[in-house]
Amino acid sequence: MKCPECGVNDELCLGGGTNPNFHGTNLEYMPIFRPNIDIIVHPNVDIVHNLEYGIPIHDNHASEIEVVHLLQHFSWKSIPFFLKDCLRVLKPGGHIYFMVSDLEWVFQQVLKEGLTPGHICSIWGEHDYDSDYHRTGFTYPLLRQQMEEAGFVGLTPPFKRNSWEVSIQGYKPQ
Ligand SMILES: [Zn+2]
Repeated sequence: MKCPECGVNDELCLGGGTNPNFHGTNLEYMPIFRPNIDIIVHPNVDIVHNLEYGIPIHDNHASEIEVVHLLQHFSWKSIPFFLKDCLRVLKPGGHIYFMVSDLEWVFQQVLKEGLTPGHICSIWGEHDYDSDYHRTGFTYPLLRQQMEEAGFVGLTPPFKRNSWEVSIQGYKPQ
């Protein structure tokens, strides 16, 4: 829905990269949100911006925010600020969805089968372009704790679309 205050769609995709719908339209909880805000210049990126410094959108704008495989690209020192900025941009009662690599699972696998190219991608990133590397990592308990500390409520149990990724959803308090 168009925001009456700024005219921008109130469903935001943060860090959707070149292919913001790559997680598939078959997942009803992951629609294609626009605008897609990302650091890279690409036809599928609507607003080019380094989100580590904050979201270039006014307070209480968004009804939905999707953040898929973005947090790993920030400094671990930036995570508390960024989560608070997501809360700032959400409307009261607004919904947020995070997906990250599940490092708990990845490290267990590394101990079992060694460091495979797939695990290297999960830990350090795919390195397809300059900013495509990871500077921090997450487990479900860590991300949940950081979301709670930022002020999100109604956090869901871990959702695993597959073994190496974990998702969590939450809300801005009303
Ligand atoms: Zn707005």
